[in-house]
Amino acid sequence: EMAFTTKGLTKVYGTGRSAVHALRGVDLEIPKGEIVVLLGPSGSGKSTLLNIIGGLDRSTDGVAAFQEQNLTDMSDRELTKYRRQYVGFVFQFYNLMPSLTAHENVELVTEIADDPMDPDEALAMVGLKERVDHFPAQMSGGEQQRVAIARAVAKNPTVLFCDEPTGALDSKTGKSVLNVLRDVNQTLGATVLIVTHAASQAQMADRVIHFADGNIRQVVKNEHKLTPEEIE
Ligand code: ADP
Ligand code: ADP
Repeated sequence: EMAFTTKGLTKVYGTGRSAVHALRGVDLEIPKGEIVVLLGPSGSGKSTLLNIIGGLDRSTDGVAAFQEQNLTDMSDRELTKYRRQYVGFVFQFYNLMPSLTAHENVELVTEIADDPMDPDEALAMVGLKERVDHFPAQMSGGEQQRVAIARAVAKNPTVLFCDEPTGALDSKTGKSVLNVLRDVNQTLGATVLIVTHAASQAQMADRVIHFADGNIRQVVKNEHKLTPEEIE
């Protein structure tokens, strides 16, 4: 069963001479429940793809579907509903509210989600039980990213989208964050899609999609995936 499929997915930013062809007819299949790494150089269109299948942006042409539901046909309202019900996002720069504690940052999301987890439970899952009353400025980058993951996970998402989740972290902290993502995949059964330019992260994936110049170059299934600790 597929979490996502796309057919001929195309995205052009701008028009005329300043047009940027970010996606050039992408045909994609992402099976449910997998950890999928989307790997490619900066500017190759990875975030654009993630934003479209995550319901944050619109394609120019082609079709994208989530569990057989056509996203490209949805109204803005339906897309918002799709994001709220099914999708968690984790970004490179955490996007936490600085004036709110870890617990309150997570609560922001659970208050509007359909089937949320208890914020404390989500924070415990990422190992932050002792930090629930801390503000972002009182936490390390790795801790802040774990709050961001707790916030995404607390929605009980079917899919977790992570755009360069370790991009702002040192390698040891990055590994602890990847470990949390692996836990989320195993415990909740969520499909986890990680966008990265770091080839080493491909080793923890079930499937690696190599992306370049707006399209898929190669899809590699990992027969022997590693845990984040085992990655060099
Ligand atoms: P990646 O995630 O692989 O770094 P992106 O999807 O961010 O790639 O970008 C793909 C291409 O689209 C790049 O050339 C980038 O400059 C361009 N691009 C991305 N977002 C926009 C935007 N909002 N407006 C115009 N061009 C954009
Ligand atoms: P609304 O404002 O109608 O609630 P949003 O644009 O906030 O809709 O999107 C709903 C969900 O999408 C949010 O719960 C959040 O998880 C996610 N989301 C959208 N944009 C961002 C963003 N820039 N940073 C973090 N999460 C986002």
